[in-house]
Amino acid sequence: MEHLTDTPTVKTPADRFTGDVYLNLIESPTAPAHLAVGHVRFTPGARTNWHSHANGQTLYITDGVGLVGTRDGNVVRVSAGQTVKCPPGEEHWHGATGTTFMAHVAIVVGDSGGDGTTWLEPVTDQQYAGALTS
Ligand code: MN
Repeated sequence: MEHLTDTPTVKTPADRFTGDVYLNLIESPTAPAHLAVGHVRFTPGARTNWHSHANGQTLYITDGVGLVGTRDGNVVRVSAGQTVKCPPGEEHWHGATGTTFMAHVAIVVGDSGGDGTTWLEPVTDQQYAGALTS
């Protein structure tokens, strides 16, 4: 058994996220399983850039209310206890609403190159505003 008592909270990089987002890394991709798990906390208005996951991603919402959007304009409003599955290669983003925090556990199965995530451009304020009203 390994008991980790001091997992640091780190701020996510500004070239991949808009606003203030905090990560506690639970599991890093390590051979042979390449599982990556993180607890991610989004402050109001904060969100990921557009991105995709080579092998997909599962999000389990642990707190607050948030949004998950895809390129076809579909936006789902998520809250604690719900799960969203993002299929392999689907470009999407996730984040808080404009007025609430949102936290989720993000589960990704990577590959030998890492977590398999391809990071793209930011979700613009216009795109985000549209998602808030959808
Ligand atoms: Mn994702």
